[in-house]
Amino acid sequence: MNISAFQHDLLTWYHENKRELPWREDQDPYKIWVSEIMLQQTKVDTVIPYFERFIEKFPTPEALAEAEEQDVLKAWEGLGYYSRARNLQNAVREVVSSYGGKVPDNEKELGDLKGIGPYTKGAILSIAYNQPVPAIDGNVMRVFSRLLMIDEDISLQRTKKLVDEKLRNIISTEDPASFNQAIMELGALVCTPRSPGCLLCPVQAHCEAFSHGREKELPIKAKAKKQREVAYAVLLIRNKENEYLIEKRDEKGLLANLWQFPMVPLAANNLNQVEEWIYKHYGLHVQLNKKHGKLKHVFTHIIWNLDVYEAVTDETMEKKDSVIFAGREKLEERPFPVSHQKMMKYIRE
Ligand code: SF4
Repeated sequence: MNISAFQHDLLTWYHENKRELPWREDQDPYKIWVSEIMLQQTKVDTVIPYFERFIEKFPTPEALAEAEEQDVLKAWEGLGYYSRARNLQNAVREVVSSYGGKVPDNEKELGDLKGIGPYTKGAILSIAYNQPVPAIDGNVMRVFSRLLMIDEDISLQRTKKLVDEKLRNIISTEDPASFNQAIMELGALVCTPRSPGCLLCPVQAHCEAFSHGREKELPIKAKAKKQREVAYAVLLIRNKENEYLIEKRDEKGLLANLWQFPMVPLAANNLNQVEEWIYKHYGLHVQLNKKHGKLKHVFTHIIWNLDVYEAVTDETMEKKDSVIFAGREKLEERPFPVSHQKMMKYIRE
């Protein structure tokens, strides 16, 4: 590859075609950090309104460090992968306590912060601090596996290492911020997963896969394991005060610290054991009424099949922090996973 010609073609295209995005307005490392964490596994169009609301609410590292975790999760509600938000806040707290609120500008300190992997580290160092460090995510792997015609599985660590090594020679030392963003933009707009737009591609002349007619065969990627399906009955349990029973999920694992309506696993319990299960877990006698509907929620490794039921109880419960009855307004204040947010419509109806 003629590296300087490649950089020139890529950067010229980028400067003419880049999208106006709110985190590109300045080179504030905190904003770049927030945007990069939000953009993991999530599309740009989805992220924009979340990013704007988040920065309005938590405009500085100090503001985020001081915020209640529940408020941060509420601002993240609907974006998914909630550990990203928790790790971000923990790392920002460390930045405030150890570095006076200034996001570190070196690989070692930045890489030691929780939730900052090589990709985010590269993005912050290059975009905010203009350092020639690669920022390699799945999109960049796809683009470079085609450009350099790499026949290795891109999900393997050694392939990532190989691309990292090659990229350290290819990245522009004059304008690494634009270079990394240009590659990301190329992956998002032109060199897309299923049908790369080679005919209009600004770096087509440098692309090995295109010159061999192999752009659609690459990248090579091992098939992800099939997700495990699990079935639950979810109960919207209403008391006499028109409040609903909700509980806070564990502080570790999937959807940690988010709130939910009680979920009864159906594999071990058939429907007529659901009331008994609720009594055992919450000490409440409930009566199961009509079924509201069905919902499916797909995570990376698991699929929830949710049957949503209405239920009532005449009883009250011992006060606990993590299991409460809440009226409609109180429900809306708390962070819920998307699937449980969708169930709110049965309550509003
Ligand atoms: Fe991707 Fe095609 Fe451009 Fe190569 S020519 S980088 S395969 S869009």
